[in-house]
Amino acid sequence: MATATRDVLIARNPATGAKIGEVSLSPPDAVAQFVNRAREAQSRWDLAGWKVRRAVLRRWWQILARDADAWADLIRSEVGKPFSEALAGDVVATLDGIRWTIRHAGRVLAGTRYGPGSQRFLLVPTGHMVQRPFGVVGIIGTWNYPLFLNALPIAQALAAGNAVVWKPSELTPLSGWTLQKSLDEAGFPDGLVSAVFGGPEVGRALVEASIDKAMFTGGVTNGRRVIEALAARGIPAVAELSGFDPAIVLPDAPFEATVKALTWGIFLNAGQTCVGIKRIYVVGDPTRWAEALATAARALRIGDPANEDIDLGPLISNAARDRFEGFIRAAIDAGAKLITGGEPIEGVGSFHAPTVLTAYDAAPETRLAGVFGPVVIVRGLPDVASAIAAANASEYGLAASVWSKDTRAAKAIAARLDAGMVTVNDAVTPTMHASAPFGGTKASGYGRSHGPQGLLEFTQPKVVFSRRAGGFRPNLYPYGTGPVRFFLHAYMKLFRG
Ligand code: NAD
Repeated sequence: MATATRDVLIARNPATGAKIGEVSLSPPDAVAQFVNRAREAQSRWDLAGWKVRRAVLRRWWQILARDADAWADLIRSEVGKPFSEALAGDVVATLDGIRWTIRHAGRVLAGTRYGPGSQRFLLVPTGHMVQRPFGVVGIIGTWNYPLFLNALPIAQALAAGNAVVWKPSELTPLSGWTLQKSLDEAGFPDGLVSAVFGGPEVGRALVEASIDKAMFTGGVTNGRRVIEALAARGIPAVAELSGFDPAIVLPDAPFEATVKALTWGIFLNAGQTCVGIKRIYVVGDPTRWAEALATAARALRIGDPANEDIDLGPLISNAARDRFEGFIRAAIDAGAKLITGGEPIEGVGSFHAPTVLTAYDAAPETRLAGVFGPVVIVRGLPDVASAIAAANASEYGLAASVWSKDTRAAKAIAARLDAGMVTVNDAVTPTMHASAPFGGTKASGYGRSHGPQGLLEFTQPKVVFSRRAGGFRPNLYPYGTGPVRFFLHAYMKLFRG
């Protein structure tokens, strides 16, 4: 959590409200200078080649690994999540993702050679394709995984030979500042990678600066504003936006183990995980599932994660908690039944009771779509087909899960779900896989991060074809019915189908 004065962002612990640090705001009109400096540094970084880039990335990885516990502590106090969650979801996931990049980027970026193939008789000589960096990448980040969601795209953009100007969320300025400090310590060339600090106005300045590619992580409303502004200038972007993830539970799913796993998938990071479970569709009677989830929710230990025995911390801010409450009220107004929770927890810190709702029809779900906090809505459906239809009815398509003893049946359902990532008998964690693409469909955005697809988002293919000077080249002029036409017809006959 953070508050702002005219000159600084004050980082606060959302569990206690206590100030934990401050970071100078970047004046919006200074952002363009960071982009200009980045551009100056970029061509040398690109020309230096992969091995030089890899060595600096390795040093950065070592610095992040050295500071792993300090990072988990910082994220615990700035985001309000338990230490173990910060260590697993932010630090380990980041180290894995950057390690993957260090090991595999050389191969992914190596490009492809094209032989003349069957077209050698005709017009096409040999060629090769290389993956070229865009130039300067602008990255606008969010706060819920302030290391993982920023460090990995930065690593992949730099690995591909780009420069980066990035803006951490104004809600986690201290994590942003610490991440930039680690980049400075690693020895990336001066100006190649810089952070700018502030809220939407600084983000807008970055979008309006002369960047060549952007990556935005955040909510749908702001995300669409950003991608529209970029599209108007023809600048491509990756958009990692909100989710409203469904879980389909089949009647044969082992009850206790599934309730336990669902509980974690719903409430980790106080429900502020973009791939957290928000909707559960039970095939059959949902009553015992909703009751068991409510019992599990009530058993969660809520409080300041400075205490190691805490399962659930606060929301990121009081404003976020107010917005969250608005979503819950709207869902209840639309017919949802409150099984447990539904109330903020009075006192210091932005705490809210973990909440379980049930519904008889889709109306409450439409009001809950886009909610970001500790809540799930449970609904029973008569059969698998209607559960799939309900899951796919949402405008969001980030992740989804299917729970059943029959893995084959679950995989068949997974194949029919419209989402960027689907997990069977698991949730959230598999989506951190360092070599698999992460991203959504529909309103949840486009483009991908992680693995080869994430890396390639920061490159554009460039093909070079070449012939020996003065060597054979089929001449088409002068047109007529003569040898060229004969040759083309012969070619089509020879290489039919
Ligand atoms: P947000 O949209 O409020 O802000 C995201 C970032 O955009 C911040 O850095 C903010 O300062 C900046 N910003 C806001 N308006 C801007 C504008 N007009 N121009 C430029 N920059 C602007 O979102 P948030 O509250 O930080 O994040 C929560 C949302 O992010 C949730 O909806 C969550 O589902 C989503 N999220 C998605 C992913 C994913 O990978 N798909 C990951 C984490 C969070």
